[in-house]
Amino acid sequence: MTPASSKTDLKNLTQEQLINYVESLGQPAFRGRQILAWIYRPGITEFEQMTDLAKVFRAVLAQHATISRFDEAMVEVSADGAVKFGFRLQDGAIIESVMIPEEDRSTLCVSSQVGCAMGCTFCVTGSMGFQRNLTTAEIINQVCAVRDWCLNHDLPPLTNLVFMGMGEPLANFENLLDALSILTEQRGLDFSNRRITVSTCGLVPQMKELGERTDVNLAVSLHAVNDTLRSSMMPINKRYPIAQLVETCKNYRQKARKRIMFEYTLLEGVNDSDADALQLAQILCQVPCKINLLAVNPAGDDAVRSPSKERILQFQKILRDNGYTVFIRTSRGEDISAACGQLAGKGWDEAKVQLNPASQPLS
Ligand code: SF4
Repeated sequence: MTPASSKTDLKNLTQEQLINYVESLGQPAFRGRQILAWIYRPGITEFEQMTDLAKVFRAVLAQHATISRFDEAMVEVSADGAVKFGFRLQDGAIIESVMIPEEDRSTLCVSSQVGCAMGCTFCVTGSMGFQRNLTTAEIINQVCAVRDWCLNHDLPPLTNLVFMGMGEPLANFENLLDALSILTEQRGLDFSNRRITVSTCGLVPQMKELGERTDVNLAVSLHAVNDTLRSSMMPINKRYPIAQLVETCKNYRQKARKRIMFEYTLLEGVNDSDADALQLAQILCQVPCKINLLAVNPAGDDAVRSPSKERILQFQKILRDNGYTVFIRTSRGEDISAACGQLAGKGWDEAKVQLNPASQPLS
């Protein structure tokens, strides 16, 4: 990622912060909006390219500010088309993002932290422990790099983002909010709120605030219907048990017709019985929601087994019979350890791909 310096990285700044920044340099507010629109155009890396700014001001910016980006990445392509990117950060840490191409659009699974403090037992990132939060620019630069990758590789455009990569996004709350502001700002990356999903293991106070301060979609990793089991899988449950989590979801502020997505990973003999399905239906009965079922990826652990297809279908049927919209989600990128819960920033052979071979001409 370029560059390392004491200069202000403009990719860390929301529109409002950028306006404050240019005002601190003696410029009018509209210059901040102008710069924001330049920064997120593919191929813009230098202030020199911002031709509607006065030459003198461009020189001032070059002296005090920078525009970071990921210049290179380690890249692995799955047999099913998913692409895993490994980005080395300035302090040497590696974060991973996974792009899933579909027929007419691509989705990016974005990371928000290096490692994770939440310690969910089924998650490889959790086993790394927590190293640090990503900056706003480090979150944004994953999106910029993969947007450009899709453009340059004739892949469907990147339109959907899910914060389900490394880390608990709500534990890096202010940087997440700034990144969401840049992602959804028309002069920024111009993503639709409807196409951004933030996933959480259940940080209740930040969930409430996310609903109050943004219009993005919320996904909640539930995975169990009783506190004993959920606490054994997800330590956060000891702080915010199921009843409190569900109550928060019931009162979650979101636009009419929007629904919270509950993620439920099925483990054979652990949480996949008819009784579990019925209890799940009962727990969520007052929450406007949808449910995603995902068979666990055993990842070589003999103690963990994925339920049979029949069992999964039966679990889905019980929920559907109770009026829920239920999807069975298939994990993509398992062969390159890019599936849910597999991201660890390890195992790369360090062969890198240049992401920006040449700046693109201005249109
Ligand atoms: S599942 Fe999410 S919250 Fe839990 S340890 Fe993994 S990255 Fe962290």
